[in-house]
Amino acid sequence: MSTTSNRKTNPDACPHASKCGGCQLQNMTYDRQLRWKQHLAVKLLGEFGHVEPIVGMDDPYHYRNKVQAAFGRRRDGTIVSGVYQSGTHRIVPVDDCMIEDETADAIITDIRGMLRAYRITVYDERNGTGFLRHVLVRRGFSTGEVMVVLVATTDRFPTKKPFVSELLSRHPEITTLVLNVNPKDTNLVLGDRETVLYGRGWIEDELCGLTFRISPGSFYQINPVQTEILYRTAISWAELDGGSTVVDAYCGIGTIGLAAASGAGQVIGVELNRSAVKDAISNARNNGITNARFYSGDAGEFMRAMAEDGMKADVVFMDPPRAGSSKTFIDSVAVLQPEKVVYISCNPETQARDLRFFAEKGYRVRRIRPVDMFPWTNHIETVCCLYHQKKDFITGPYEPKDAMYLKRPK
Ligand code: SAH
Repeated sequence: MSTTSNRKTNPDACPHASKCGGCQLQNMTYDRQLRWKQHLAVKLLGEFGHVEPIVGMDDPYHYRNKVQAAFGRRRDGTIVSGVYQSGTHRIVPVDDCMIEDETADAIITDIRGMLRAYRITVYDERNGTGFLRHVLVRRGFSTGEVMVVLVATTDRFPTKKPFVSELLSRHPEITTLVLNVNPKDTNLVLGDRETVLYGRGWIEDELCGLTFRISPGSFYQINPVQTEILYRTAISWAELDGGSTVVDAYCGIGTIGLAAASGAGQVIGVELNRSAVKDAISNARNNGITNARFYSGDAGEFMRAMAEDGMKADVVFMDPPRAGSSKTFIDSVAVLQPEKVVYISCNPETQARDLRFFAEKGYRVRRIRPVDMFPWTNHIETVCCLYHQKKDFITGPYEPKDAMYLKRPK
């Protein structure tokens, strides 16, 4: 895929596309991308019911509020920063990405320019030497707060003070600066140790009228505009009645559960990542929400424990990672038997697999809608609402095509 050939079909194509590979749909105009995604969603999920039209973005540029740049050195000694070429560890220098936040890109470019003056070396993964591996920038879309995370091989950083003070004077919008230490030979960006160099060590953002605290290691949706649409869709489809017991599984920092809390009796969130759970707990407190509790652990095991303890759930929101959910999880949901399951997915292939498991357990799909969270890339996000078919509604084993013609249960 070369820039020239992309431009034949998309005059807006990014000049870095052929080397970077981060945006797979550069050869299509945005309208065409939406049609392509809709087509794929129908292909993968159409057997479960009508796929409503994808919700696209009005302005599909610079939507990524989290930007991560790898640092390295060319053979001639020049320091480069950018993204890894798809499937390799070669860094493609990118300073002006059409999907990344522009403030974040400007900060990263400036950091690169400052390295030599402060004698900051960059990591060489061939022999494990050097200091700076990555810079991660996150910007709160509504609050404008900016977090910069320097990922380095060690916390020995002799020029720390003057470097931090120059960076802050160049970019007063930075509200916190964190040094993350990752000495390991690994593909993971962040290591386990952290030192806060400036500010609180986290940023806040607003979503669905609530304020959320986001730590460096916590998952947070990267496209805030579309996230709000996605969550509002999910919550409205759940038709909460004020007294419902709601489970927010794979809850991250608690965003969906907390946004749903005002319509629920109680919210129970579960998430594997401990720092995200801590964020979720403080997010509940800071928003004055008293009917939400968060637990850390595997969502499947947690649901099994809930089922074994004879607990009840009326609505389950689930938002698993790309690999999808697990049989343990779905088996346990079947025991808890909530009336509704709202399944948000960033991978319609694993979602389709899981919907088949759900179908075997008597759950039928009522609505499916894709929301374009990742313009220019081939990633598809979908939200899907399932209802448990009351016994008199189950007519026999699951037949994919039947699901399309089922009447809406009252
Ligand atoms: N609902 C959240 C997070 C969705 S991303 C949001 O919208 O922001 C998926 C989350 O699932 C991540 O936070 C990840 O840490 C978590 N996760 C991954 N595997 C898990 C598991 N087995 N059990 C519980 N949570 C898991």
